[in-house]
Amino acid sequence: MIGVDSVSRLNMIRHLKRTRHFLLDRMQALDLEDYNKVGLNTFPNILPMMTGHAMKEFNRSVLKTQHLDTLHLGVQKRRIPYALRRGPPRNLHLQLPQGRRVFRDKPHFAFTFLTASTHEDVNGASQVDGYHARYLSSLVEEGLVNNTLLIFFSDHGIRWGPVRNTPQGGRPFMYLAFPSRFREEHPELMQRVQKNAARLVTPFDIHATLLDVLYRVPGVYRQKSSAENKGISLFDEISPERTCADAGIPLPFCVCVETHPLNTSSPTGQQAGAALVASLNAAMTQANVTGKCHMLQLGKVTNLQQIGGAEHYMKKKCERVSSTDVEVFRVRITTKPRAAQFEAFMFRCEVTGWKLTVHGEVDRLNEYGDSSYCVDEGFLKKVCYCK
Ligand SMILES: [Zn+2]
Repeated sequence: MIGVDSVSRLNMIRHLKRTRHFLLDRMQALDLEDYNKVGLNTFPNILPMMTGHAMKEFNRSVLKTQHLDTLHLGVQKRRIPYALRRGPPRNLHLQLPQGRRVFRDKPHFAFTFLTASTHEDVNGASQVDGYHARYLSSLVEEGLVNNTLLIFFSDHGIRWGPVRNTPQGGRPFMYLAFPSRFREEHPELMQRVQKNAARLVTPFDIHATLLDVLYRVPGVYRQKSSAENKGISLFDEISPERTCADAGIPLPFCVCVETHPLNTSSPTGQQAGAALVASLNAAMTQANVTGKCHMLQLGKVTNLQQIGGAEHYMKKKCERVSSTDVEVFRVRITTKPRAAQFEAFMFRCEVTGWKLTVHGEVDRLNEYGDSSYCVDEGFLKKVCYCK
């Protein structure tokens, strides 16, 4: 598995052209067109891929009873035997083939995640396109992937900067390259994977697929999994009717909802802006940091969308969820004293007296840089403007 941080599928098509062509044309890789993220940043998207658990349940149940190195990750109880050094992508691409040669005929799992060139720069991927393409080409030429499923993927799109003001969804990319022998010997399995390439797929499904590969028996995951498991192996058929909720995708990351723009200066827009600022201030008050952080004020509501098709997400909070009982919005604001930009999903319904309430995590859209130096915790870093 070779991962690249913060490159959306569309950005991959734009900037990793040679790599993409090599994957599609020379390795017959499948491009999962509707691959969807399930979390905001790297960890909540990689964790489900490796463990089958979402962040929430992981924190709640798994971490209390187990340590990471005893989890069922596929590698089971073995320690990670070889690790690459940190370094620029050039070094990495020099080191990787050596590992591949050493393990040529031994079953193994390798996972690499590259951050440096793409995390801060929406155009950074183009600088490493050649490295990736040449690396993949060397694997093919030396016959190092004749018995190997190669997965080339990212975790999410770029997370901050001006591009976040555009309607981009920031969906990650996911390419699976099966070895030719496998493709020839298992046409019926490949047909299913191919069909699934155009269906709604998540990191949970990649986990399920990895387990099927590990046990070399398609369907093993399905038999072992419980109702709590959200993943479906790509060797099973994924329904074209699958919804984000079925797939375990939280509302803010679901690309299947409809959006209708609303007037930002409407009463709803102004109420949403005020309620969002109030919730940020409440979070700072609760964390006891109002001594070091400025209280925020609403600058402007910059974007307001009504979200259709998201009612089922509000079941718990609103009891009834027909579209007349609940309204869901996505709101973007700037705040004072510093022009911080935030985005949040908000809802209101009869049960809560039509009061606008934040749903899920609030996202920061522009870089906070050093302005939050006085706090440490992740969420506060996004919100606090130090005095
Ligand atoms: Zn990331």
